[in-house]
Amino acid sequence: MPTDPFLVPDPSPERRVFVNRTLNMRSIKAIGYDMDYTLTQYHAEAWEECAFGHARDRLAALGWQVESLEFDASMVSRGLVMDLELGNLLKATRFGWVIRAMHGIRFLDYRDLRRAYSGILVDLAEDRYVFLNTLFSLSEASLFAQCVELLDAGKLPRGLGYGELFAAVRAAIDGAHRDGLLKADVLADPERFINLDSDIVDSLLDQKHAGKRMMLITNSEWSFANEIMTYTFDRYMPEGQTWRDLFGTVIVSAAKPGFFTSSNPLYKVVDEESGLLQPHHGSIEHGDVFYGGNARLVEEYLGLSGDEILYVGDHLFGDVHFSKALLRWRTALILQELESESRALSEFLPTQQRLEELMAKKEQFEAKLSALRLAALRARDGYAEPMFEVSDGETAIVETRNEILALDDVIAPLAIEAGRLRNEAWGLMMRAGADKSLLARQVERYADIYTSRVSNLLYPGPYAMFRIGRLDLPHDPHPQHESS
Ligand code: IMP
Ligand code: MG
Repeated sequence: MPTDPFLVPDPSPERRVFVNRTLNMRSIKAIGYDMDYTLTQYHAEAWEECAFGHARDRLAALGWQVESLEFDASMVSRGLVMDLELGNLLKATRFGWVIRAMHGIRFLDYRDLRRAYSGILVDLAEDRYVFLNTLFSLSEASLFAQCVELLDAGKLPRGLGYGELFAAVRAAIDGAHRDGLLKADVLADPERFINLDSDIVDSLLDQKHAGKRMMLITNSEWSFANEIMTYTFDRYMPEGQTWRDLFGTVIVSAAKPGFFTSSNPLYKVVDEESGLLQPHHGSIEHGDVFYGGNARLVEEYLGLSGDEILYVGDHLFGDVHFSKALLRWRTALILQELESESRALSEFLPTQQRLEELMAKKEQFEAKLSALRLAALRARDGYAEPMFEVSDGETAIVETRNEILALDDVIAPLAIEAGRLRNEAWGLMMRAGADKSLLARQVERYADIYTSRVSNLLYPGPYAMFRIGRLDLPHDPHPQHESS
């Protein structure tokens, strides 16, 4: 069949937009963008290593012996959970079952895992658990894990519990983000920290020219946001324009998630050089820069309802959870790691198919074993006719069990390989064994669409219909079952 010349070629799998709820971009009248890790893609390893270093220095200044600690990107991944009660880092399924746990920098073996977590479901509403919502969480988790190791070895102040240890690590990371040193490092060498994207301006210009009201709503402070946006955008803007021409509304220091839940007052940055603020009442769409405020104010000024506003962000809690749960804004989540996740899955596909064939075979043997046992039971107790005659039931049972054990020997290394995709230590971000991960559950609850970067919106464009396909359910008929 000849290809339709009016169809834009499908992007590679890692650059696609994935859909949890149908979203008609033509119904969207305003689009709000988060900045860090959304409009600007950072090299997470470089940024987190730098944040880790500044936080470590802060702990060292308390007299803690942490000078030798280094950020270890291989041991952390977004979507994991810190357990402050036991000092562990966890990976959980969508239902909260813990499938892998690390104490300090050591993984728990199966027995210890069962002992610590059988009967326990991770509930993110409990203070005990801290979810790694964003790539900014990686340095915090790595520092916490390594400090747990030191605490257990008696190398940190005595009497400290894991909860207090976490509070100290949190304060150190928080301080690193706030005191200006980390950001000075980023601004001094942006090339090291920022992954430029030449398609981003065109994707946003398409949206602007299609009539969407464009907003930047970031937690970053004005001076940092201005420098980062200038560096990331201005080189790709049409002649004579800057990033400011893209956004009718600019809100900095938004304090998300509070921005979506509070009635924080709005200020105007009246002097962009000094950052001087003045309380503001009135329109927010003059190309001026605003500070603080809240989502209700934005809705009011725009005169739009929640379902006409799309918010695009990378933070599961701060950007898409509350905007969706409280305001019913439409939401797009940026998950930069989807690109490596998707590549790992594609490369593994032939092995995955082999694994599934072997599992199907194992299921058949398991069904046979179960039937043989039942036939033997009926034959022994005589309460019902056995379903079939077996001359030597015991031997058949032993043989079938051996078939399963032999299959397990082939399946086990492949399953281990599958569990190490993308991240050797923790495996895929969105999967937990054969199930969805807790992260995947959060994503499907709060993100209408998700994709690896903002510029992926360029291919579908501002008139796109993002439509959810029909979901598979366990009881759906499968062609191979129906024909057999
Ligand atoms: P956004 O993603 O554009 O909303 O902004 C993220 C901003 O929050 C950046 O300026 C980060 O440096 C900052 N940030 C991230 N984590 C922390 C923290 O733990 N404490 C204070 N600021 C943070
Ligand atoms: Mg962000």
